[in-house]
Amino acid sequence: MKKDISRRDFLKYLGAGAAGTALFEGAGATPVLAGENSPDFEAGPFKLKKTKETSSGCSYCGCGCSTIVYSEGDKVVFIEGDPDSPINEGTLCPKGSALTDVYTIVDKKKGRILNPGRLTQVQYRAPGSSQWEIKDWDWAFSEIAKRVKKTRDEHFEEKDEKGVTVNRCKAICQMGSANINNEEDYLVNKLMRGSLGVIDLDHCARL
Ligand code: SF4
Repeated sequence: MKKDISRRDFLKYLGAGAAGTALFEGAGATPVLAGENSPDFEAGPFKLKKTKETSSGCSYCGCGCSTIVYSEGDKVVFIEGDPDSPINEGTLCPKGSALTDVYTIVDKKKGRILNPGRLTQVQYRAPGSSQWEIKDWDWAFSEIAKRVKKTRDEHFEEKDEKGVTVNRCKAICQMGSANINNEEDYLVNKLMRGSLGVIDLDHCARL
């Protein structure tokens, strides 16, 4: 009878089979099976079976490791490395392995609760103010554009003190992101260098 298995089930069976084979070969004349055929093998319930899988990326550095985010409704329940990724092949470094903690944290009773520090809205603190205000994205985008244009116009230098043409703006710097791809990086560079004259560009991974 045909039985549908998920990729996760497949990997689990593969791992169990490989363990069984290794022990069988290492045990010489006395076969020892530790896989799913072993009388001692007891697979627990697969806790992520009813969750939704969404492909995503680790947000921490420029290595570009891919992840699978498991969610139930609007709640993230687990994040792990994506075994289909040619970059990380299912692995994550200690930082990436803690990605789920962006969404939930461990409380004093050692239970998981939603991370109260996770930002989900635009927050704005006006110059000189000690208060944060919640703003919408339309307001934020037009405000950012307005301020970037004003700063660039006020500080753009066509020539330096020796009369050499420089066409630069030293009042803005640009910080790259590990979560954007080559094409997006190209556009960011065109905007920053070509349109605004920004010469201070950096990146969280310094690649
Ligand atoms: S922080 Fe770790 S898991 Fe995340 S992209 Fe970098 S190497 Fe990969």
